Amino acid sequence: MNCVDVAIIGAGLAGVAAASDLATAGKSVLLIDKSRGIGGRMATRRHAGTRIDHGAQFFTARSERFAAFVNGLVGSGIVQVWSHGFPILVDGLVCARADGHPRYACLAGMSELAKQLLPDTVECVLGTQVTSVIRLADPIRDGTRYEILAGESTVCLARDVVLNMPPMQLVAVAGDLLTDSEREQLLAIEMEPCWALGGCLAEDIPLTTVALECQHPVLGWISRNHTRRGAASEPLSIMVHASGAWSASHLEDDPLDVRNAIEAAMREIGMPLHWDSDPFIHRWRYAKPVAGLGEEVFRLSTSPGVYGVGDWCIGGRVEGAVCSGWSAAQQLL
Ligand SMILES: Cc1cc2nc3c(=O)[nH]c(=O)nc-3n(C[C@H](O)[C@H](O)[C@H](O)COP(=O)(O)OP(=O)(O)OC[C@H]3O[C@@H](n4cnc5c(N)ncnc54)[C@H](O)[C@@H]3O)c2cc1C
Repeated sequence: MNCVDVAIIGAGLAGVAAASDLATAGKSVLLIDKSRGIGGRMATRRHAGTRIDHGAQFFTARSERFAAFVNGLVGSGIVQVWSHGFPILVDGLVCARADGHPRYACLAGMSELAKQLLPDTVECVLGTQVTSVIRLADPIRDGTRYEILAGESTVCLARDVVLNMPPMQLVAVAGDLLTDSEREQLLAIEMEPCWALGGCLAEDIPLTTVALECQHPVLGWISRNHTRRGAASEPLSIMVHASGAWSASHLEDDPLDVRNAIEAAMREIGMPLHWDSDPFIHRWRYAKPVAGLGEEVFRLSTSPGVYGVGDWCIGGRVEGAVCSGWSAAQQLL
């Protein structure tokens, strides 16, 4: 039986950041994710000979430690300053809006950030969906007190647990460890969804900037994805996100209908999509928190050593997720 100091469930940025600090401090860590890769919503898909980022599009680095980490990656050519702010589409007009603050992107694809955060020494179990975390009736002598389960099978036993997943999933997995008021508090954190349409283009859209934020009934964001890749030889590619409100009201629609609606909206704003090959569509059920918890981590009051982490704790963004993971590690250490 695999018995570790800390089980980390979810290898999104927060889970990876926590794993990194805990492993560096000498703790035995097991990182578990239901997907086949790490990075969570910092996601990149291989598509038609290129890499398209269908989750997070850029990140900021305002806090001291994250800025130092990002600057190191800029120095080694893994991260670049992608923009200093994006124009916004309002009432059909593109309005300039750069604020000079750097927005960063990974040249090889956004999922690279998680890979850069994670030391090779951390053991990962991928493709495994944790269904419950149970407190052992009799803790083992070395302090091991939780059992992590995937269905009927035990994934590992652990002294401490970090839960890196959206709040409603946390309630489903670790409901027995929560008090009634904690459960209510978590279920009140709303995460808005996002439909994402991406693919390669035969012809670029008529937009001179790398991306465009949209105030539009259907559209939320348009990204000329190839501009993040850096090389002139990269195929033209695009990522379009529907707005949170539109995605919420069309969450259960047929993906083909969603594609048609986004394409029609792009035509309507004068940026028709001329696909080079079939595009892909992805639904993020829990894309971004509407408002966060206001704390870097969520500490379970009656379950010692169990922490909830993620962008929904503070910040609602890439940087917030990383800082949440680092903060949980610091508290566990
Ligand atoms: C479409 C979209 C656009 C975005 N744009 C931006 C942007 O431009 N800038 C920005 O800063 N942020 C952006 N974000 C937000 C950013 O992606 C997130 O803030 C950040 O990636 C969250 O990281 P996390 O670690 O909190 O969670 P996640 O990335 O969600 O990680 C959670 C992980 O847990 C795993 N998991 C969940 N349940 C289980 C389980 N039961 N068992 C095992 N594994 C489990 C999941 O597979 C996932 O890998 C965007 C997000 C989306 C979806």
